[in-house]
Order: sequence, then C-alpha cells, then structure tokens
Amino acid sequence: MKGMPVPIRAHRAIAPFAFALLAASPLLAGPAPAPAGATGFTLGTLHLFALRDMNNVVPNDASVFGSDVGVPTVTKALEQEHAPTDKISLSVDALLVAMPGHVVLLDTGLGPKAGGMLMTSLAAAHVKPDQVTDILITHSHGDHVGGLVTKDGTIAFPRATIRMSAPEWAFMQARGSKALVDAIRPKVQAFKPGAEVAPGITSIPLPGHTPGHSGYEIRSGAAHLLDIGDSAHSSIISLGHPGWTIGYDNDAQQGRANREALLARLAASHERIFAPHFPYPGVGFVEKSGDGYRWAPALPQ
Ligand SMILES: [Zn+2]
Repeated sequence: MKGMPVPIRAHRAIAPFAFALLAASPLLAGPAPAPAGATGFTLGTLHLFALRDMNNVVPNDASVFGSDVGVPTVTKALEQEHAPTDKISLSVDALLVAMPGHVVLLDTGLGPKAGGMLMTSLAAAHVKPDQVTDILITHSHGDHVGGLVTKDGTIAFPRATIRMSAPEWAFMQARGSKALVDAIRPKVQAFKPGAEVAPGITSIPLPGHTPGHSGYEIRSGAAHLLDIGDSAHSSIISLGHPGWTIGYDNDAQQGRANREALLARLAASHERIFAPHFPYPGVGFVEKSGDGYRWAPALPQ
C-alpha cells in the first residue's frame, strides 16, 4: 500500500475526526481502526511476533485494484472467493524478531497519529520501544514508516538503528515527508540491496512497488521465512490475478514483473512468508491455483 499519491482518502482519514465522518458514509474507506494484536510463533530458535496496527479499506472502484481490467471483473474475482464486492480490506501489520542481542522490528505501521495500534501490540508482546535495536524498512510508504515517530513527531524507538536500502532512502528523501525524513535522518543506515542487515536476516531486492523496495529473509538453522513487503497487497486479488495493475505500485510494469516472478518462486519453493497486508497475522504459504495462486495461512507449529 502506498502512503503518498493514491490515498488522498487515506490522508484525509488520518485526522481522528475523519473516522467519524467516514463511518457515516456508506463505505468506510482508507485507514480504519483494528484491535491490537501480537501473534507469537517460533522460527528455529528465534521468537517472532506478527504485530497488528490497523486496517486499510480500499473501495472496489478500479482506483487501486484492477484499473486495467475494470470493476465488473474485480467484482467477479471477489465473488468467487465469497468476499465483499464493494471493497477490498487489507490488514496493516509489522513483524518482530527477537534474538540474542537484537530485537528487530520490520516496518512500523501507520503510526499513532493515524490511530495505529502498533505500540499497544508491541506491549502485548512484552517489548518496550527502547528495547528495539534494529528497524528494517521494506519501503518508505506511510503505512510502513509512519510509526517511526511518536504523535509529536519525535523518534519512537530511541535506541534503534533504522535500516532501508540505499535506493529507498534516496527515494524517501526525494519524495517522502520532509518532517519525517529530518526526524529519522540521524538514525538511518542505508544498505546495498541484497546485504545481510542483522544476524541471520538478509535483504532481498524486490523493486517495482518502490525503487528500493526490499523483502527480508529471516533464517534460523533450516527454518526460514520471507517478509515480502508490498510485493502483493490483497490475498485475493494480488494472488489470484498477479498480472493486474496495482495502483499502489510506483512502477506498474516492474511491480507486476516482480509480483509474478516472486509468486512463481514462492509457490515452487513452498517457502513460508509474512505479508504485511494479508489477513492478520499474515503468515503462510503461496500455492498455485489455476492461472494464479491462492493464500494458505499457516503459522509454524
Ligand atoms: Zn503497504
């Protein structure tokens, strides 16, 4: 999901009073409150938590999903999965990895100013903000970097180094919120796409959604999991029809190519993933289904 251009609605909804206004309209669109949540699981010897922040409600009006195929075709795809046809609901989640010497947070949600619940979810995982040592950013859209700062715009995780790929940091400085860029600048360490960014965590370049968009592969012994960032947004539309244009992608063509290649790879390798916008907690597998793919949610046992 994109924090900047498309979501004019999203930005409007960031003011708390806008929730009330939108709630009175027939369709609640944009960021919407979600209950806090911290779903813990293990990966090898690591302890992970999927942390819930908010929901994002996208109207089925071809503004984001299916701008190239049209509303009736999107409606049919939603009907086939017995999903509501007036909107596409996305979760907004982050991931936490605890290991000896490091507490690593992957993305930070929309932030408290937008009504994000990440800090409450973090507390539910018994982690305090000053215990977080590393923050890995998949990309610089508002629903991934908004939580880097508190309501008053100061750094939310005082001890953490903020890591994102060098092309993404360049993109954020050119196109992101100046206030946010200035607030985080002293804490940012940019890395070369593909670099190891924490013990057992490697960045995976997945450009298209944004220029420096990165996934993160987390390994412990033979166990591994890939945070795919915003390579796919809707578990129904993005997996069932990966070739359809996603309005959130900065480069639609590159975004599509990345999505198609990644999903083919994931279905073949059967690698477990975390997808920040799939139904919470967003952990599971991508499986081949007809011409596309389907979502098989599954937490490690
Ligand atoms: Zn997003």
